[in-house]
Amino acid sequence: MLDTSPHPISVFDMLKIGVGPSSSHTLGPWRAAEHFVRELRASERLDRVSSVRVELYGSLAKTGRGHGTGIAVMMGLCGNDPETCDVDEVQRLGPATLSSGQLAIGGTRVVPFAREHDIVFDGAVSLATHPNGMRLLAKLDDGEVVEQVSYSLGGGFVAHDVADGEPIAVADLTVELPCPIASADDLLRWCADGRSVADVVRTNERAWRTDSEIDTGLIRIRNAMRDCVFRGVSTTGTLPGGLGVARRAQALHRSLLGPVEAQDSAAWFDGVSRADLEFGDTVRLVSCLALAVNEENAAFGRVVTAPTNGAAGVLPAVLFHHLAGLDPDRADIDAESIRFLLVAAEIGAIFKKRATISAAMGGCQAEIGVSSAMAAAALAECQGGSAAHALMAAEIAMEHHLGMTCDPIGGLVQVPCIERNAMGAMKAISAAHLAIASLPELAQVSLDDVIDTMWSTAQDMNVKYKETAEGGLATRIPVNVVEC
Ligand code: SF4
Repeated sequence: MLDTSPHPISVFDMLKIGVGPSSSHTLGPWRAAEHFVRELRASERLDRVSSVRVELYGSLAKTGRGHGTGIAVMMGLCGNDPETCDVDEVQRLGPATLSSGQLAIGGTRVVPFAREHDIVFDGAVSLATHPNGMRLLAKLDDGEVVEQVSYSLGGGFVAHDVADGEPIAVADLTVELPCPIASADDLLRWCADGRSVADVVRTNERAWRTDSEIDTGLIRIRNAMRDCVFRGVSTTGTLPGGLGVARRAQALHRSLLGPVEAQDSAAWFDGVSRADLEFGDTVRLVSCLALAVNEENAAFGRVVTAPTNGAAGVLPAVLFHHLAGLDPDRADIDAESIRFLLVAAEIGAIFKKRATISAAMGGCQAEIGVSSAMAAAALAECQGGSAAHALMAAEIAMEHHLGMTCDPIGGLVQVPCIERNAMGAMKAISAAHLAIASLPELAQVSLDDVIDTMWSTAQDMNVKYKETAEGGLATRIPVNVVEC
């Protein structure tokens, strides 16, 4: 049977390695620029480009300066891959372009480039199909202009086509999934034969890749999360952007576990899992892990989008909290990590299919709320809950994020975003334990109910609370944003 859901979504579409601070405003525009350059190269026009121009609209323009949209587009135009590039290049490219007045499109075609003129932030205009619209233009030697219109849909998903007034994300629609899932009810039905959520998700994932590739890929994702936490708890200083936010994860880690002396993230985590922590310390550790990831995210570090970059700290905080509670000498930490990530990704995919994971569409409930629901379900299943318990955990977590607005000060993904990840992680842990202690058949609200409620709340929400920096905290605290 063909998956009739909007698009089959792989676990690796939901969990992507990239660069902070925003999946919709950094990773998406970066990918759009890469796609533009790829198309120019494929049509043998790259070597004829004489100038480029980028126009950012709607939310991309309103919060793009704080979210690093300009530098992300430049990185993409130069042919850098966010998954593999040297992240320090993000900090170098702006000053280098300013002094040379040039940009190497695709890494080879050098054209004149003045960032203040060639990247236009037009917040007064919003493209009809999506609040995160952008236009890329390349002028060729003979005067021909090549144009690409793209939409950044949240979570690093990008669309270059529109059908029936909706942006259509790049996806392999020919993939046939054995267990099509468009709703939480669908997922529960596939689990009715006794399979866990992770089993069903793996069955579908085999439509894209082998078991070995699934496992290797997810361990790579887990390790990227662990590396990110490790850098976060090892780094001090002030975050970029002009708000003057001090990093706190390192000091929190020091007060809990002493200074970081491990040589790498694997050794660091082994030490954490052998530490003798009291209950109160465990709670503080969860906050520390979440802060570590989102401080890295705010500093243009490498993070795993889960389901977005602004909310990238929730899943690692809950995952490593769970893994640290296992016996490091007896538990299969890799197998447990894989199980956790399979469940989390599927919950995120259901939210994406049925509602949104874009703050420009749904406010922060669509980012932190979804990440908390993903983590809650994964933790519930890993701690012995049934599929029904896992879905109930996701429902509880989202229920207590409904209506949460997106109002980042200065458009920077710092305040309230960094602390909000710690809160989302704590809610996820509470939700998982509440669900496991409950009878899911007695729940008043299903996961599908709460997803649909989130979506209707998103549609009712005043646009100024949807990643525009025109409402809430963003209008209370003045800041002169310093672009990267
Ligand atoms: S307020 Fe929430 S949705 Fe908005 S940028 Fe921050 S983390 Fe993302």
